[in-house]
Amino acid sequence: MRVLKFGGTSVGNPQRIAEVGRLISDSTPKIVVLSAMSGTTNDLVTYSEYLYKKDHSGAKVFLESMRQKYYRVSEELFATEELRKQGREMIDTHFDNLDEFNRDMFTQHEEKTVLAKGELISTALMVYHLQELGIASVLLPALNFMRIDKDQEPDNYYIRENLNREIALHPGSTLFITQGFICRNAFGEIDNLKRGGSDYTASIIGAAIDADEIQIWTDIDGFHNNDPRYVKNTARIDDLSFNEAAELAYFGAKILHPTSVRPAQDKNIPVRLKNTMDPDSPGTLITSRVTGSGIKAVAAKDGIVAIRIKSDRMLLAFGFLRKVFEIFESHRTSIDMIATSEVSVSMTIDQVDRLSEIVSDLENYGTVEVIHDQTIICVVGDMIGESRGMAVQALEALRHIPVRMISYGSSNNNISLLIKTSDKIDALNSLSNHLFQAR
Ligand code: ASP
Ligand code: MG
Repeated sequence: MRVLKFGGTSVGNPQRIAEVGRLISDSTPKIVVLSAMSGTTNDLVTYSEYLYKKDHSGAKVFLESMRQKYYRVSEELFATEELRKQGREMIDTHFDNLDEFNRDMFTQHEEKTVLAKGELISTALMVYHLQELGIASVLLPALNFMRIDKDQEPDNYYIRENLNREIALHPGSTLFITQGFICRNAFGEIDNLKRGGSDYTASIIGAAIDADEIQIWTDIDGFHNNDPRYVKNTARIDDLSFNEAAELAYFGAKILHPTSVRPAQDKNIPVRLKNTMDPDSPGTLITSRVTGSGIKAVAAKDGIVAIRIKSDRMLLAFGFLRKVFEIFESHRTSIDMIATSEVSVSMTIDQVDRLSEIVSDLENYGTVEVIHDQTIICVVGDMIGESRGMAVQALEALRHIPVRMISYGSSNNNISLLIKTSDKIDALNSLSNHLFQAR
């Protein structure tokens, strides 16, 4: 069995939904994981913001315009009056329910239920569409099997047992449709795997059913060796190892959600990145195999904040780093890059909602400096095979650009460099010219 995940743009309008319908209608057994139609989860976040602000009339107007959009999707997607009616009723059920939250107090718990609607609607639309085409499919409700534990980690045992039980209820079926992103938490309440989490759903499901392959379908043909938004003449990467893919997923353009590598890697299930716009292109294949050596790709991640703490107490002291790390842990903020000297530590974070609390806690241990608008440039590849000259090549390409931090050697797959965001495009192009064009 395969798992195929289609993202928001792949189901972003009636034509695209129909296109996905065509792609999944062959007889290969598969579970299809769908995101919400593009824009919907953002819209549901906006609707929630109205509700938090108790702007009841604003919420109403906004929700009704969303409802109208979905009516139009249903009109266009379905050919028969029967299915249009069915689609309209399904849409009304969800939107009437969304409207019920527009009353008194709005809670975070209720917001989770609101955010779940996009995937519930997109999967229902797909199942109805297939029904209209006479293609048999089974809707597997993610809320019946997808679950996170009290640490927000997937409850793999529960998922495996319940998913396989759900599948076994439909002997002979080869086409299953389910929702990405949404799940239940340890208390059985509706929750989610965080924004962009549908890829993670696909990978968790792949691991739970020991899938032959997990395919992530987007609108780009896999990972490129540089960011096509900023650099011309980028090339697709055909093969990547799980470790290389994990680095690129974290740093690179939003092609693959970084959390989704691990479940596949643990079970050694190949992950293939495919393009809905060009289904025949082989895309990028991610396996445990390391192919080729040297630098394979460059990616950049914006929105980075660097924090530097300088303290004489660090000198020859043990336990200092632990105290620093504990502060980040207590604010549930993960550190990406780190560099140390005898009297200072520099770290980067990309999640800044607790920045001021972190800084004030750190100030108990030394002088703290915060630097905004930074970008991590990540150079990825297999760097054992060709151990000489790699860092030099990357630095040589960036000789005209101020580099604030460097992280090299912690894995064989990555060199990370911290620069100002305003230098990013220059840096990516220069790396492209130095590393890839001459080959
Ligand atoms: N619909 C969710 C989001 O927009 C999950 C996903 O698409 O991966 O974040
Ligand atoms: Mg995504």
